[in-house]
Amino acid sequence: MNVIIIGPRAVRGTACFLACVLSVAAICLDLPRSCMAQAPDQLQIRGARIDVRFEFIPSDRLRKLMMGRIALSAQAVAAYYQQYPVPAVEIRVGSHRGHGINSGHAFGFPRAHLFVSVGVDSTEPDFADDWITTHEMVHLAFPSVAEQHHWIEEGLATYVEPIARARIGELSPQKVWGDMVDGMPNGLPQPGDRGLDFTHTWGRTYWGGALFCLLADVDIRKRTDNRRGLEDALRGILRAGGSIESEWPLSRALATADRAAGVTVLEDLYAKMRASPVAPDLDRLWHQLGVERQAGALAFDDFAPLAAIRTAITQRRAEPGP
Ligand SMILES: [Zn+2]
Repeated sequence: MNVIIIGPRAVRGTACFLACVLSVAAICLDLPRSCMAQAPDQLQIRGARIDVRFEFIPSDRLRKLMMGRIALSAQAVAAYYQQYPVPAVEIRVGSHRGHGINSGHAFGFPRAHLFVSVGVDSTEPDFADDWITTHEMVHLAFPSVAEQHHWIEEGLATYVEPIARARIGELSPQKVWGDMVDGMPNGLPQPGDRGLDFTHTWGRTYWGGALFCLLADVDIRKRTDNRRGLEDALRGILRAGGSIESEWPLSRALATADRAAGVTVLEDLYAKMRASPVAPDLDRLWHQLGVERQAGALAFDDFAPLAAIRTAITQRRAEPGP
């Protein structure tokens, strides 16, 4: 068993469905005894245990790169939530031909576990580009809700993943905001769309949910003089026991989050967006946040009215203790 201790210094979305199919197949098929008999590689992060089981026999190089990716993702998620979302999780790593991690899925029953599939030809840059491992770990930090609210689960994972990676310095603020400028329009309602609870397209589920999270983050910060943000609301859910291993009504999760933030933002936003196709003026929002595209490159305007809020969202933070 390999144990690594992580100390304090130490086209998104479509992957989830494919991985669900793969993971069920992995459970149903007889996997080679040599693989399943291997002791898991183990990581410890802030008292939480991550067991990693490879469903194939990886090269030493691939094993090391994959374990490094998992450790970095765990560090990002633990920094954002100030804890790892669950006390223990098993990560099963499947394989496919080619490069990169191409699918992932998070499960809460009977206990928290994740599945990701890694390309057997992957090299270091493939792991640096990977967002799926962090995305799946963010899923651990929210209770399972009814299917019609799937947008909040995917929206949170889409929104929090790059921000959590920026908080530990893995991604630059320019990269995160540039991807938001490019991606958020996918979440705007199309002709005939209804509210988030009633239109279940890819765009409305992943990016519509992410847009809900961005609007909530900005509004919490506006109303608390930038002292609190969406992470404070989400940490409140975890403190109340709302991890993926629990099933909650969405109303409970939103009320718990609002109590933790000290302002009623998520409940109010949900009341507006649940049944109606709300289309915020994104160009105006970017302008207020001081995010500008100039000849393809991203530039920040630090004199914009909400520049301090933009900075707070993606600023690298000193991590609290393990
Ligand atoms: Zn997901």
